[in-house]
Amino acid sequence: MDCLFCKIISGEIPSKKVYEDEKVYAFYDIKPMAPVHVLIIPKNHLSSINDVNEDNSAVISHVYEVAAKLAKELGIAESGYRVVSNCGSDAGQTVFHLHFHLLGGQKLKVEMC
Ligand code: 5GP
Ligand code: ZN
Repeated sequence: MDCLFCKIISGEIPSKKVYEDEKVYAFYDIKPMAPVHVLIIPKNHLSSINDVNEDNSAVISHVYEVAAKLAKELGIAESGYRVVSNCGSDAGQTVFHLHFHLLGGQKLKVEMC
């Protein structure tokens, strides 16, 4: 499959890894929008939240466990952070491999849209 993030998981395309286990991979966003901007992605290819169902949703709770762990390690757990997943064109999704942005390290804009 011609998927950028699948190629990042396999190492075909280099990335700055933050964390990896059997279910997820986390790496720094190439164009950070905040001092801390990490992408957390399931290793199994899902295109977006639209692909989440009762058979595969366990990985989503794992993503949030990893987000909490990385927020502590990266020093933003106390100051605060945002976890965002854009789904589809109205949300501005540009890479169609499900991913969660972990953003923090500064006061984030209150506006959500
Ligand atoms: P989206 O806009 O789909 O929610 O987020 C995609 C994110 O992937 C963007 O923040 C973009 O900067 C990031 N991105 C795109 N290509 C690459 C890449 O090759 N390497 C890394 N590390 N991030 C990328
Ligand atoms: Zn993929």
